[in-house]
Order: sequence, then C-alpha cells, then structure tokens
Amino acid sequence: MIDLCQQAPSWIRNFAPYVPGKPAAELARELGLNPDGIVKLASNENPLGVSPMALEAMRSALTDIARYPDAGGFDLKRSIAARFGVDVAQIVLGNGSNDVLELAARTFLTPGTSAVYSKHAFAVYPLSVLAIGATGLETPARDHGHDLDAMLAAIRADTRIVFIANPNNPTGTFVRGASITAFLDRVPTNVAVLLDEAYTEYLDDADRYDSIRWLARYPNLIITRTFSKAYGLAGMRVGFALAHPDVADLMNRIRQPFNVNSVAQAGAVASLHDDAYVARSRALNRDGMRQLTEGFARQGLNWIPSYGNFVCVRVGAADTVFQQLLRKGVIVRPVGGYGLPQWLRVSVGLPAENERFLSALAETGVRAA
Ligand SMILES: *Cc1c(COP(=O)(O)O)cnc(C)c1O
Repeated sequence: MIDLCQQAPSWIRNFAPYVPGKPAAELARELGLNPDGIVKLASNENPLGVSPMALEAMRSALTDIARYPDAGGFDLKRSIAARFGVDVAQIVLGNGSNDVLELAARTFLTPGTSAVYSKHAFAVYPLSVLAIGATGLETPARDHGHDLDAMLAAIRADTRIVFIANPNNPTGTFVRGASITAFLDRVPTNVAVLLDEAYTEYLDDADRYDSIRWLARYPNLIITRTFSKAYGLAGMRVGFALAHPDVADLMNRIRQPFNVNSVAQAGAVASLHDDAYVARSRALNRDGMRQLTEGFARQGLNWIPSYGNFVCVRVGAADTVFQQLLRKGVIVRPVGGYGLPQWLRVSVGLPAENERFLSALAETGVRAA
C-alpha cells in the first residue's frame, strides 16, 4: 500500500466493499450471449420495468438538464407530503434510500459511538456505520429475522442508532407493527431507530401498519422509503426519510445539495401518482412469489417465507449452484456474505423469468439440504 493510503484511518483500510448483483450485460460479455437472453433476478428490481407515467415525466425533464436540479426538491417533497400526510419539514431526500441511511449514520455517529443491527440484515447498515469508524453491534437473528429483544438488550450508553429493515433484505422476514411500537416504547429517546421500509408496498393489507403516524409519538423514529422497488426507479436513485423536523433538519444540513438529480425528481413525482402501476407490481409479486415457492416445494427445497419481492431458498453449496445458474444465463444472488452460505436469494420476476429460473435450478440437481 502506498504511503498515502497508510494514512487513511484503519476502518477505511480494513473496509470490505458492498458486492452488488451481477449486471446482465457483464454476464452476457462473459458468456458471449445476447443480454436479452439473460434473466436477472439478483437485485430485487421491479420486473414490470418503469411506469409509463414516470417515463414520460423523465423524458420531459431531460430537456432541462443543463440546469442544476432543485436542491430543495420542492415538487417531490410536496408530493411526498401530500401522499403520506407529513410536513415538508419532516422529509429528507436521498440519492436512493441508501443515501439517507448513510446521512442518518453520519448525523449521529462518530468513532467511539455504536450502532445496533441484526445478523442477516441489509449490508448497507454495517457499511454506513463502519465507514465512519463507529462500532457495529450485530445481534443474533431469530428465525433468520430481527430479534428486537436482543437488539434492545444490545443498546449501550454509546449507542446512537438502531437499524431495523422491515421486511428485511435478504431474508424477507417481517416484524409485526405491534412489536415495533413495543420496541420503540422501550428504546431510550436519545437513540435513533431507523425503520427501513424499502419493501412496505408489497405487504398484504393484513400485515400493514401505519408507521408514519408513529412519528408524532416517537421523535427518535426515522422511516426510510425508496422509489427503487415497487415504484420501479432503481436506476434513477431516489429515496427519502421521514423524521421529526429537528432530525430531518440535521440530516439535510449534511446532505449534498444536489443529491437527487432533476430527472429522478420528476420521475419520482410522477410515480407517486401512478397507483395502478404500484398495484400491478404488488399483484405480480404476489403471484410470482406463489409460483417460486410452489416450484421450491415441488423440488423439495426449503425457503424462508418472505414478505418482500424476493425469497431465499436453501440449496446447500450455494456458490456452486450460483455458478451453474450463471452458465444457464440466470443471475441470482449468493448471500454467503450475509451469513447464509447455503442459501440463494432470488428476486420475483415475470412469470416466464421465474419459470426459467425454476427449470435452471432443477437442472442443477439441487436437493434439500
Ligand atoms: C433495496 C433496498 C433499499 C433501497 O435502496 P435504494 O438506495 O433506495 O435503491 C433499502 N433498504 C433495503 C433493505 C433494501 O433492500
């Protein structure tokens, strides 16, 4: 390592980067295949493609990209405020919700403080915490999901933030609303609770809870949402946090002023009005989840019941099966890095994509582990 890099803090030098889903174009290059023949079920993207309303709005916005975007995100914040019944002052916009996760971490953490998150939870939590040189306290999972009692017990005097993904990625596990409010009732008010609801739109009505209403009762609650999943805008990078105005104010101070580009802002505003698209995404996901899990059952494979738009299936030697699937032009996600070396995560695709994946999986000859 060159002298300069030796000067970087130890937590940067020891940093293990995030491993994203393999892009279809990359696999196509490696296999010498047409990218259109590749099935990518690796990043929980919306298989419907972009909403026509959002696409139209983004096309119009392109004409103005010589200008900087609106740093205050006026239209988008106003649309979010109207849609979710919050005040504009409670909103923090992000370049994807990953950006707001990092803003929350940078707002409250320093070296010498700590954050709590669960084993098998979303990888961006440890990334955001460790990049600051703060300490990550990882609690054991319960049934592959968050054990809120263990998380409460893990909170120390130096803890500033607790991360909860609900539903969680990559396991798809879900914690009931009543358990979360019981948790919030017991967490010290000087510890932020970041509730990451990236997949909330996919929940069945019976499982839904109104976390936004909780903001009035719990000033330490930060809710994050994204346009990357059910709203179909993963490539545009837009997400947001909802929090107490004082918290949102702090997070907004350290935000890059132009962190959400103008095309993304326009697409996000339009997508908030495309209820039909979100409803179609939900219905497609429900049917595709049934298709996948019925396929697993037929192949005698175990899976973790999922509340998201993806599901983890147990295949034993997951890295080998992952490679076998790649050679058949199917990209899924190994989750060994999440402490699940026997599992693969597959995103729900279109019916034909799900079928391609299921038959490729059957051809690998995997058996229940
Ligand atoms: C996909 C995902 C997000 C969304 O990230 P963006 O940066 O908004 O694309 C956030 N949290 C979890 C748990 C996710 O799986």
